[in-house]
Amino acid sequence: MDELFGVNVFNDFVMRQRLPRETYRALHKTIDDGRRLDPQVASVVANAMKDWALEHGATHYTHWFQPLNSVTAEKHDAFISPIPGGKVVQEFSGKELVRGEADASSLPSGGLRSTFEARGYTTWDPTSYAFIKDHVLCIPTAYCSYSGEALDKKTPLLRSMEALNTQAVRILRLFGRMDATRVTPTVGPEQEYFLVDKDMFDRRSDLIFAGRTLFGARPPKGQELGDHFFGTIQTRVQAFMAELNEELWKLGVLAKTEHNETAPAQHEMAPIYAIVNVACDHNQITMEMMKKVARRHNLVCLLAEKPFEGVNGSGKHNNWSMFTNTGYNLLEPGDSPHESAQFLLFLMSVIKAVDDYQDLLRASVASAGNDQRLGGCEAPPAVISIFLGDELTEILSAIEAGSSYSGREKADMTIGVHMLPKFPKDTTDRNRTSPFAFTGNKFEFRSLGSSASISDANVVLNTIVAESLRQFADELENADNFRSALHELIVRTIKEHKRIIFNGNNYAEEWREEAARRGLVSLDSAVEALPCYTAEKNIRMFETHHVLSAVELRSRRDIGLDSYAKVINIEAETMLMMTRRQILPAVLRYAGILADSVNHIRAAGCELGCGQSRLSDLCRESDLLANAADDLESVLSSKPADDSAEVFARYMHDRILPIMSVVREHADNLERVTDKSFWPFPTYDDLLFGVH
Ligand code: ADP
Ligand code: MG
Repeated sequence: MDELFGVNVFNDFVMRQRLPRETYRALHKTIDDGRRLDPQVASVVANAMKDWALEHGATHYTHWFQPLNSVTAEKHDAFISPIPGGKVVQEFSGKELVRGEADASSLPSGGLRSTFEARGYTTWDPTSYAFIKDHVLCIPTAYCSYSGEALDKKTPLLRSMEALNTQAVRILRLFGRMDATRVTPTVGPEQEYFLVDKDMFDRRSDLIFAGRTLFGARPPKGQELGDHFFGTIQTRVQAFMAELNEELWKLGVLAKTEHNETAPAQHEMAPIYAIVNVACDHNQITMEMMKKVARRHNLVCLLAEKPFEGVNGSGKHNNWSMFTNTGYNLLEPGDSPHESAQFLLFLMSVIKAVDDYQDLLRASVASAGNDQRLGGCEAPPAVISIFLGDELTEILSAIEAGSSYSGREKADMTIGVHMLPKFPKDTTDRNRTSPFAFTGNKFEFRSLGSSASISDANVVLNTIVAESLRQFADELENADNFRSALHELIVRTIKEHKRIIFNGNNYAEEWREEAARRGLVSLDSAVEALPCYTAEKNIRMFETHHVLSAVELRSRRDIGLDSYAKVINIEAETMLMMTRRQILPAVLRYAGILADSVNHIRAAGCELGCGQSRLSDLCRESDLLANAADDLESVLSSKPADDSAEVFARYMHDRILPIMSVVREHADNLERVTDKSFWPFPTYDDLLFGVH
């Protein structure tokens, strides 16, 4: 394992070995302090990287980037340059390392770039190590248009890290912490997924085209016994996990924890946390490897948010905190009055940010797939709130009221003078229903969809916290008396934002009502959530921190809405195809045979009452299904042409989704009364319990 870890990564260890000392130092200045990279340094690095890559079996290199469709893109170039005499040498220049040109006219740009000026540029992100995958040296890069607009998910993430750093360091200065010169957000994303047998997968068009089932009656057993969660891992799955770990370790991904999840056939992998842009790159690699390795075991890895109705869907828990370059976690409560005060201010910055920008957090996790999951009683609701735990909440109330914390005798809590009373850490992690939970020394944002890039959510999170910190710093830097101004600021922030704190059961109906009373934002679907990206206040906030411009925000909104509409369109078409070409023909065949049996029995002088009634159920449901399919087709064909992404998405949401659920209802009813040997594809019990 020691030898395996990172063998395919051009990491710090390799760099130290292979780079001349000055080059290594200069590169580190870029990595650690964001300094510009000298072209000469880049040349030396490129050459060393190429030699290392060739020794490790690479033949090509690619600028690996993350376009706006949430996956990764790569175009392979061989390391060859022609030399006179019809020969080639293997070369890789500093220029090729640092900058690439990608004609990616088919990638979504949301109107940022028209196809006739399709040039985009990739720029090396030296903070995320290059690695070799399938004989290709992959260089993590950001991707921008000719005029500098972000066409990818990495650029704004890097910008948001910079924004958070700038504001957090201002706060640290106020507390007299001169040792720390950088603050970096760290993330540990827990990745949920399903595994199904590939032979069964191949027989279901919905899985093939939509990545999730569009039909399926519930099996007699689901997850109600809770016997899958943390249960013994099936042999085939175990073999898959072992190989996945190996592949990830080779690529430097700190795959750490794995277990069965709540639903049958559902599993989870959690890595050790890393700085957020690396965590994001690694999560992309993880998703890719999960899919690849599964195939080698004749399995298919489903990353869709809701592959099966009736059992839990999959998400990604985004564990987030902020570290100084001196190794101090700013969300760690701290052991001295000074640290307590600083912790409280950073804690309040997150609470204020989440309250002020609930809409943006909701938008950052919005997709057609995640709509299927959010709000079901298994996943965080669409309303954003924060779980702090009773103890910490009580402490905040005591601070607000200027009273003493009931858990302790006479614990006056003048900020900056007294320490926070110790509160038990573990009790804070028990509430699993909250979308945004404080878990001792980090926040866990649980609303992310399992297939999404974690970039969007973290861009929002980093930037909104930067905005709170900016406001705090502006106020405190001008204060005459820092300590009393700090106290006043914390008390006021608690007062203004405590409505966002909710420690109860977020699945309960009463919470919906309570949340409405508190004036919290409730956005039930992606169609309502995505337009929030371009609300006036949000554009202003993103522009203040130079993270996303109005144009860039518009492009993200439109790509989100456009892909929402397209996903539903594909699902609807798939439903139609399966209904007309598979389900109805199968049911009619079965009904015909049943009718023959009924007639035969009648000819023999008996009446088969149950046969008769089943036949009429089949006929009735088949007619209803056929009618619903006709409706679906006609509404699909009259969808607004050439209209804005928002109009198109809204149409799919309002008009198509309701008919799709009618189609499904009748198909599932038919499945329940059709001889299983006639059913044209594997059912839920086959899929959910078919991997041993
Ligand atoms: P669980 O949520 O299952 O109790 P943990 O809380 O230990 O497990 O960790 C879940 C994830 O949170 C892991 O990926 C872990 O690396 C990550 N994590 C732990 N501490 C931090 C931190 N300070 N910042 C970001 N992520 C963290
Ligand atoms: Mg967790």
